[in-house]
Amino acid sequence: MVDIDGSYGEGGGQIVRTALGLSCLFRKPFTIHHVRKGRKKPGLMPQHLTCVSAARLISGAVVEGDRSGCTELTFSPGEPGGGTYSFDIGTAGSTSLLLQAVIPALLFTGRMSSVTLVGGTHVPFSPPFHFLSGVFVPFLERLGVKVQLSIETYGFYPKGGGRIRANIFPADRIGSLDLLERGEVRRVTGCSGVGGLPPSIASRQQGAALAGIRASASELSDKTAIDTINVPTHGQGTFVYLECRSESSLAGFSALGARGKRAEAVGDEAAGEFINYYRSGAALDRHLADQIVLYLALSGHESAFTTEAVTDHLLTNLWAIGLFHRYRYSVEGRVGEKGTVRITPPKEGPGAG
Ligand code: ATP
Repeated sequence: MVDIDGSYGEGGGQIVRTALGLSCLFRKPFTIHHVRKGRKKPGLMPQHLTCVSAARLISGAVVEGDRSGCTELTFSPGEPGGGTYSFDIGTAGSTSLLLQAVIPALLFTGRMSSVTLVGGTHVPFSPPFHFLSGVFVPFLERLGVKVQLSIETYGFYPKGGGRIRANIFPADRIGSLDLLERGEVRRVTGCSGVGGLPPSIASRQQGAALAGIRASASELSDKTAIDTINVPTHGQGTFVYLECRSESSLAGFSALGARGKRAEAVGDEAAGEFINYYRSGAALDRHLADQIVLYLALSGHESAFTTEAVTDHLLTNLWAIGLFHRYRYSVEGRVGEKGTVRITPPKEGPGAG
């Protein structure tokens, strides 16, 4: 039984998601205490509870403590089975974070899985669907892990109700990453989206994002293109998503609209996120860095990459992975600053070969 202190580091929901995914993958039971102690409202919230019930369904697990607000959870998985699944968070809780827990659980079942997820698709503190499809999935593919994604309806805060689908193909080996240099920036593309709100908001966001990039990196003006889109949703929401394609890497940046937040501020924020990355000279954006390390730890080979910023989230996730899998890692750089991450997996493992 893996015993986990859920208050470690950032003390957030990532520890729960990583534990669930790897517990299913390695068939190791765990108990986690002080769930999300670092958050304003500690304990399991709808998004985390859906992760628990998804992992339980996939692996036939025996679970204790899966109640709203509960701060102690015990999870004993059986054998995970691939297949067709449907999970509804019931709130605007993030479907992409749910997917983060589900992919590792389904990766080595030997058959393809089709998963439908309902909830938020563009909600705060989580990867927007565009980031998943534009950056996360292409990086998984580089590692030899195939996931197909599609979106039917968009889910914004507070209504949620967005619907995405993921086909997760069985993996046999997982590749590694050697990405210390990103090389020259080739294109910055993106979209400014609105759902259930006037299209003029998308144009204002677009204008502000373009102006923000032009003001701080005029050399990229000719390489930058941002579209406007009107998206299907049961609620209302807006977002800007930017993607930077360079010689060796790919990175994504986003900002979300909110009641009382000016459209210009949304565009400006997304541009600012991109500019921070651009100036850092690093290969990976801060979000991909914390999301990809789980897969690199499962690879049979060493990986190394630079990231725009070392985050508490990254450090917490590296630690949580190590509770289930005896790999080694090192991080050069301080929290908030550019860093280099090196990952040395054990010789044998699920993705080795
Ligand atoms: P909580 O306890 O509130 O549930 P958490 O640990 O689940 O916390 P966060 O720490 O906020 O959630 O981070 C969740 C994940 O979402 C991380 O992997 C982070 O990199 C990712 N993420 C957050 N914002 C973005 C973004 N704008 N683009 C891509 N990924 C993002």
